[in-house]
Amino acid sequence: MFREPIYLDYNATSPLDPRVLEAMLPYFSDHFGNPSIGGYVYSWEAEAAVKKARQTVAQTIKCSPEEIIFTSGATESNNLAIKGVVEANLTKGNHLITAATEHSSVLETFYYLKKLGFELTILPVDPQGLIDPEQLKKSLKPETILVSIMVANNEIGVLQPIGLIGEICHHHQILFHTDAAQAIGKIDLDVERLNIDLMSMTAHKICGPKGIGALYVRRKNPRVNLLPQLHGGGQERGLRSGTLATPQIVGLSKALELANLEIDLETERLKELREQLWQYLSREIEGIHLNGHAQLRLANNLNVSIEGLEPNRLLRELQSKIAISSGSACSWSTSKPSHVLRALGRSDQLAQASLRFGLGRFTTEPEIERVKILIAETVYSLRRWRDKSPD
Ligand SMILES: *Cc1c(COP(=O)(O)O)cnc(C)c1O
Repeated sequence: MFREPIYLDYNATSPLDPRVLEAMLPYFSDHFGNPSIGGYVYSWEAEAAVKKARQTVAQTIKCSPEEIIFTSGATESNNLAIKGVVEANLTKGNHLITAATEHSSVLETFYYLKKLGFELTILPVDPQGLIDPEQLKKSLKPETILVSIMVANNEIGVLQPIGLIGEICHHHQILFHTDAAQAIGKIDLDVERLNIDLMSMTAHKICGPKGIGALYVRRKNPRVNLLPQLHGGGQERGLRSGTLATPQIVGLSKALELANLEIDLETERLKELREQLWQYLSREIEGIHLNGHAQLRLANNLNVSIEGLEPNRLLRELQSKIAISSGSACSWSTSKPSHVLRALGRSDQLAQASLRFGLGRFTTEPEIERVKILIAETVYSLRRWRDKSPD
């Protein structure tokens, strides 16, 4: 048996793995010291844990530990990367490039910079959700200081051609930042091979705690200059002041360790479950559309739009049985059509009638069996009801 509502919103956040919680607990109590103080054992214990965690993150993405800065999550990492690079490169130029389907923490940071006078290029995506690397190449200017394009999209799971983008940026000596919040621990990310200069990460999408993330900042070939956005005690080589959150950092590291260990098997398992769900829904439901590229996407994500249903009606019908979302996590209450689905060229109507399924570590086959039948039945009954009503 399983618990209802069945949780299928792993692209919004994920439950904490009990093994992660266990690893974190001693750092709330016995090993509570401030890792930056030194001078006594409480501090050394915490310092050693932070050091080990930094190594784990670094090994995962094949960089050196000094290139990792702990932050409060991917939102902060994106802000630090973009504003930090911009402020350190004011003499080089004022042009920035991103894509229309980025997370709000990237897009809103860009819009903020536009108000300050920076020039933006926001690359469109094709109907599958992919940017065109040729178009990226054409939009580069001598004044371009940063390209920010995500690895995997949080709504539709689409994987951008990150290797190609990195190559283009590297070739033109333009810094490349990528938001890897959805990708870290799910796909292999080697910052050397992919020519990534800055990369944002977060723990809570991979069964780690909320409120902790990291930013990778390249230190050589090239050395990325960055100005801090938080001033204070000078932690994290002056780039991110604030007492290090030892329990959270240990949690991030443990979550990554577990994800890395199971990455191949878990990808296969989730892909199979996701395909099972999509095959059934596409066979049983007329007027259902897959959002985003069918293959170039995260194994754990399915996003569909269903014709002829009132926005949010389906979700309300399902909410006691399945925990899923429509569009992005933050847009549910506003019922504004998702900017990602609009960027794919979906109508407002179809963009609003969308469902995002996010599968994860604790998702089981019986759960998917139940979910696919529930969805199809609910769609049938809503349509029957609509066909019978006088208007
Ligand atoms: C979740 C997410 C974020 C925000 O991460 P937080 O750690 O919650 O701040 C940023 N970008 C993407 C792609 C995400 O999925």
